[in-house]
Amino acid sequence: MIEGSCCCGVVKFTLNAPPSMMGTCHCTRCRKLGANVMVFIRRDSLTWRQGRDNIALYEPETPYKYTRCFCKTCGTSLGEILSNEDSFPISAQTLDTDLDIRNRFHEFVSEKPSWYEICDTAEQFEGHPEMS
Ligand SMILES: [Zn+2]
Ligand SMILES: [Zn+2]
Repeated sequence: MIEGSCCCGVVKFTLNAPPSMMGTCHCTRCRKLGANVMVFIRRDSLTWRQGRDNIALYEPETPYKYTRCFCKTCGTSLGEILSNEDSFPISAQTLDTDLDIRNRFHEFVSEKPSWYEICDTAEQFEGHPEMS
């Protein structure tokens, strides 16, 4: 069982299956939201323990399309944890259980600030992987 939570502990959930993949987004939006490192989870692996009603949504303005979720109390970036898709990314930082998973790619490397050095050998993409 994999446990996840926000900083203040109001939001708590578990995953009954490990994430399928980990990736890092260097776009300006993910950077400001503090959601660079994501893991992709299946919706049916997610069980809410508490705090689902304590999540605020940031609905994107066009052309952006991903609704971002935050703890209303402490502001922890939760990724797209309320998505209705079968699979979606959540912030890896929310996971309390350490995982045997490593970063698989870097996307939007073109927007990466120079002070952030990529120190792994994962594949790098200028934008979205499928567009590169
Ligand atoms: Zn919180
Ligand atoms: Zn991004």
